[in-house]
Amino acid sequence: MSMYESLGVRRVINADARLTRLGGSLMPEPVRRAMDEAAHWYVDMFELQRAAGRRLAELTHNEAALVTGGAAAALYLATVACMLGDDPAAAQRLLDGQQHKREVIIHCAHRIPYDLAVAQTGARLVQIGNVLQTFSWELEAAINENTAAVLYIAGAHLERGALPLAETITIAHRAGVPVIVDAAAQLPPVENLWHFTRDLGADLALFSGGKDLCGPQASGLLVGKHSLIAACAAHAAPNQRLGRPMKVGKEETLGLLAAVERYLALDHGARVAHFERIVAYWLDALARVPGILARRDFPNEAGQPTPRLLISVDAAHPRLSAHSLRELLWQGDPRIAVGSAPNAITLTPDTLEPGEEGKFSIACGRSLRFSDVALVNCPSRA
Ligand SMILES: *Cc1c(COP(=O)(O)O)cnc(C)c1O
Repeated sequence: MSMYESLGVRRVINADARLTRLGGSLMPEPVRRAMDEAAHWYVDMFELQRAAGRRLAELTHNEAALVTGGAAAALYLATVACMLGDDPAAAQRLLDGQQHKREVIIHCAHRIPYDLAVAQTGARLVQIGNVLQTFSWELEAAINENTAAVLYIAGAHLERGALPLAETITIAHRAGVPVIVDAAAQLPPVENLWHFTRDLGADLALFSGGKDLCGPQASGLLVGKHSLIAACAAHAAPNQRLGRPMKVGKEETLGLLAAVERYLALDHGARVAHFERIVAYWLDALARVPGILARRDFPNEAGQPTPRLLISVDAAHPRLSAHSLRELLWQGDPRIAVGSAPNAITLTPDTLEPGEEGKFSIACGRSLRFSDVALVNCPSRA
């Protein structure tokens, strides 16, 4: 019996997304091996942090890099570094409410739940534009001597309503203000590891270690300018400073490094082709099922260039709703997690383990099934 089973915790087949509440991602063998190796030695954590950072910077074609305790932790450290530099006395000023330079500019169209990680440093988020549009003069007018940084959330799904990143960087740099790019879920494409910083000139960019990289769930990667990465490290553990509650262990450090090495060596074209085949298989299996309409959806919910399946349920269906379908799948054993969209559920191929794509068998009245096994019987729609 596994430890999960002994605790009465059900397995989840994840066709939703790489979500923290579902455990994020699964670690492949090289990552598990690296974490296990890390657990066998004591080391000087400062030495490990510097060495892993240098190696990660080389691998990702950046000036410098730092392993963090997740992308949200990277947002926190990046904000602190832009406000305070590497000055521990400034951290005290911040805690005393005396730090003036603490404004972080964000597009209204970029407000996301994770910007709380910026606000919780004590920074004040200054919003520009509206959900539909932003003008360059709005960014120019928002910048003043108290501006610490511009925070830009990357992703095709958030482009509408915001200035392009290149223009944002030009305007910010003209005023000497650094730009932080939150690219937590913007892998693939793998090139994003250097695109925002080396190619577009952003000062810092950050990625989740526990999403498509399939590194340790509690890890993140921060890349960018030497001086700013050094300032991030100055406020991070093992120093006993502001970032200490978000400490990174030696296991996460080696695990993330192994994950990045693995990710760079993957054949990403072949991966996407594999996802396309799974989506085509689903489409074929669901063709001509009454009451639903299945189609390929692209890009996915995070704006990543990979396909997924969108199953729309006829709003007038007598027995089935998208909501009840999702609930029924979730309540089974194993649980099956699917994404939600208006009157629809979504299925992502890239979070599934090999073979799981055939396990979605939903018998609902007249059957909506991918295989021969019925997992679920739909009750009448309430
Ligand atoms: C997932 C995500 C985060 C948080 O990432 P963690 O690695 O889980 O801390 C931050 N920003 C965005 C845009 C995300 O999608």
